[in-house]
Amino acid sequence: MTTTKVLISGASVAGPALAHFLRRDGYEVTVVERAPDLRDTGYAIDFRGAAFDVLEEMGVLDEIRGHDTRMRGTTLVDGTGAETGRLPAEVFAGELEVPKRELTRILHRVTAADVEYVFDDSISALAQDDTGVAVEFERAAARRFDLVIGADGVYSNVRRLAFGPHQDAVRHLGMSGAGFTTANHLGLDHSGVLCQSGSTAIYAFSAADPDILGVSLSFATASPELDRRGREEQERAVREAFAGHGWEAPRLLAAMTAADDFYFSSTCQIQLDTWSRGRIALLGDAGYCAAPTSGMGTSQALIGARTLARQLALAGGDHPTAFAAYEAELRPYVAENQATGRKGAAMFGGGAVPTGS
Ligand SMILES: Cc1cc2nc3c(=O)[nH]c(=O)nc-3n(C[C@H](O)[C@H](O)[C@H](O)COP(=O)(O)OP(=O)(O)OC[C@H]3O[C@@H](n4cnc5c(N)ncnc54)[C@H](O)[C@@H]3O)c2cc1C
Repeated sequence: MTTTKVLISGASVAGPALAHFLRRDGYEVTVVERAPDLRDTGYAIDFRGAAFDVLEEMGVLDEIRGHDTRMRGTTLVDGTGAETGRLPAEVFAGELEVPKRELTRILHRVTAADVEYVFDDSISALAQDDTGVAVEFERAAARRFDLVIGADGVYSNVRRLAFGPHQDAVRHLGMSGAGFTTANHLGLDHSGVLCQSGSTAIYAFSAADPDILGVSLSFATASPELDRRGREEQERAVREAFAGHGWEAPRLLAAMTAADDFYFSSTCQIQLDTWSRGRIALLGDAGYCAAPTSGMGTSQALIGARTLARQLALAGGDHPTAFAAYEAELRPYVAENQATGRKGAAMFGGGAVPTGS
């Protein structure tokens, strides 16, 4: 019997988690990642519910617990900086919160020995037939795989190539935000401050590193259009939205321009009628992003990876059966998380919720 060859696009959370389970089940796995190296994002992600079982099954739960940001909660302030209330840690930090880069680093490390990782490359064409998928890459030579999985995030390249344009799948929830880190001039200690004003919100927090302040500047937007624009245009939109916002806004806007880890993202969901086309399937944010306001994105990516691997194993590798069962099993969970994501966005008036911590 020949070994089933699987190509996964995306080496963040869902991709390496699926690689781990497929490798364990005897598949030959290649992961292609567009970034030149593991991505070093400034934000933290959190885990809730059954995601803990997945981490335990992977044998990484204790190590991940070692990176707990130990957040103590968030103070709400008004435009003058006066305290107006407090939020418990769980609101933004779930049951366990860790810097995203630590999770990605650990998932990569536990899979790197027997999974082929190809960084700094991207799929440029996919053509499937009865026996496999012919894949072309931007840099590497063309190859054939039995299955291709898109675990490449909200703006999934695999989804665009195999399912259609982004606008068919992306549902904007009315807000966008810039994130970056700067020096912890607020002296925060495992805590955050949230300052809401109209349709803008500033969330500043200090977690793992006491010298570093993570900042998110969120504001109302009519579409996710800015996600595809350059940094200059994104910064201009942030500055316009925050003109007149009190508290630390002027200082943080200056810090944004100086930051070397600036990122920008809109609060979106991915909604599709089906998560697979023949031998190509979607996983995690690529297939069913619930939006950062759900707090479930990372848990969903991990649970999705284990569910897909388990259904492939149960179906004895028969991918149409496995993909259908994966979708049937996961859809109710995703629907619940997406409802939470929409509620979270609406609660903050679409524009005044931090895009994560
Ligand atoms: C600002 C922000 C804050 C967040 N806060 C939280 C939080 O507090 N809690 C939480 O649970 N979730 C949070 N999330 C969501 C969470 O990060 C995602 O739900 C989770 O990372 C999904 O994992 P994924 O592997 O499916 O996709 P992603 O983490 O998006 O990874 C996709 C990967 O694919 C790669 N890629 C993209 N295009 C290509 C290509 N063409 N070829 C190859 N590779 C490609 C990317 O570089 C990336 O490595 C937040 C997200 C954002 C943007």
